[in-house]
Amino acid sequence: MNPEFMHRAIACSSENLDLGGGPFGAVVVKDGKIIAEGSNKVTVNKDPTAHAEVVAIRNAAKYLNDFNLSGCEIYTSCEPCPMCLSAIYWARIDKIYYANTREDAKNIGFDDSLIYDEIPLAIEDRKIPMYSMLRDEALQTFKKWTEKSDKTEY
Ligand SMILES: [Zn+2]
Repeated sequence: MNPEFMHRAIACSSENLDLGGGPFGAVVVKDGKIIAEGSNKVTVNKDPTAHAEVVAIRNAAKYLNDFNLSGCEIYTSCEPCPMCLSAIYWARIDKIYYANTREDAKNIGFDDSLIYDEIPLAIEDRKIPMYSMLRDEALQTFKKWTEKSDKTEY
């Protein structure tokens, strides 16, 4: 836990306001140094997935030339939303430090509690209708993957 890294994540969030983005910033740290930064690029890039943490993870993965960010820590100016939290898990990041809470984000109009509430619900009870189809056809690719001997597992 190094306040210097959180200062930088917060600075990324603050500087991003002048660039037309949302008030969120994040940095990825490895071996005691910042290897990547990110700020929210949703509106600027017209990319709904370009949250600060996702942008920082993409930059860190590019920098390390690896999809596995184990050994890294992320400092984010706000508690991660469910998408970013998932991305952090997929990236195998060791530890998360956050500054603002999700309640703070909710208070300024960024409410991700709906998504947190949706996840534990049964599929049929969620707001966005979701239907399984052509499962047998899709399973063929899963079968091929299982049998593939030269795959890169993650
Ligand atoms: Zn997010």
